Amino acid sequence: MALTLTVDGPRWRAHLRSVADRTPGLVPVAKGNGYGFGVGRLARKAGWLGSDLLAVGGYGELSEVMGRFDGDVLVMTPRRVSSTGDSERVPTDPRLVHTVGRPEDLQALTATVDRPRVLVEGLTSMRRHGLTMDELAHLVAHPPSGVRIEGLALHLPIGIDATQEVRDWLALGLTRQVFVSHLSAGQLADLRTRHPDVTIRPRVGTSLWLGDRAALTVSATVLDVHAVTRGQRAGYRQRRVPRDGHLLVVAGGTAHGIGLEAPTAAASARQRAIALARGGLDAAGLALSPYSWAGRQRWFLEPPHMQSSMLFLPASVPPPAIGAELGVEARFTTTAFDQVTIS
Ligand SMILES: *Cc1c(COP(=O)(O)O)cnc(C)c1O
Repeated sequence: MALTLTVDGPRWRAHLRSVADRTPGLVPVAKGNGYGFGVGRLARKAGWLGSDLLAVGGYGELSEVMGRFDGDVLVMTPRRVSSTGDSERVPTDPRLVHTVGRPEDLQALTATVDRPRVLVEGLTSMRRHGLTMDELAHLVAHPPSGVRIEGLALHLPIGIDATQEVRDWLALGLTRQVFVSHLSAGQLADLRTRHPDVTIRPRVGTSLWLGDRAALTVSATVLDVHAVTRGQRAGYRQRRVPRDGHLLVVAGGTAHGIGLEAPTAAASARQRAIALARGGLDAAGLALSPYSWAGRQRWFLEPPHMQSSMLFLPASVPPPAIGAELGVEARFTTTAFDQVTIS
């Protein structure tokens, strides 16, 4: 009775191995919901891959990985001192590598932790966190004592060629090691050729863990099936059923992230037009669900409930039996699965 992620283990592991083999310096990233698998499970897999370093998003995720992974662990979110001081206890494990994005945060960290290992984040065109090139140059000219700066971290926009930007940073000549995100294999190779003296470490999450979608299947159990006739009312909102058919009550609701979509801007008007042109049950005010049965995506009767959802199936389609599994089009980074099964 669950929303399940089923993993074709041999195929998934072969994919992980092949990404690791063709990505020198790979730093696997395990953060958030662990890309649907869970951060702890990914930490184990990073160990199985033989990684020397694993990246997590924030300090709160360390408890899930420190006991499951033997190598070093990088925290990618820059350590931040609040205006009232660094009251939060900083973990001092020698395997830990911190990231800092402001000179004052580096100072504060050095005051709290004995010889911390640190990456200095550069403020890239993302404009998220980081030191400017001038601040970085100043830092290197006046190195603070009692800190081990292990490299530069650059978080780059997706989908553009950011190699020139990386090269601008490397041209400062301030680091022997750079951690980058979202560069292609070709771009990484190009950087290595041009900067043979610099160790380049790509931090990779999505294309590692989710790169072979065919290894991953999401399914949901049918919890109940009810025959309905057109005009009958059902659900929290007592909507009228638009036609004769069946209601399916299926596993998966808002608590699992079902029905959540990332905000989109320009695309939405076009998508609405396409939905109208399709002329399906959206004309009756229903929304297309991520659940499939008999080869097609099916309609929500109403918005998902906390742990289950109600779907409408027209009479022309034979309904599934209770206990059957429906396919689900899930967005892995926003879905909390009830169970993950790996063969
Ligand atoms: C999440 C994250 C990554 C990994 O991103 P993917 O798109 O999942 O590969 C890399 N670098 C940083 C700084 C991140 O926060």
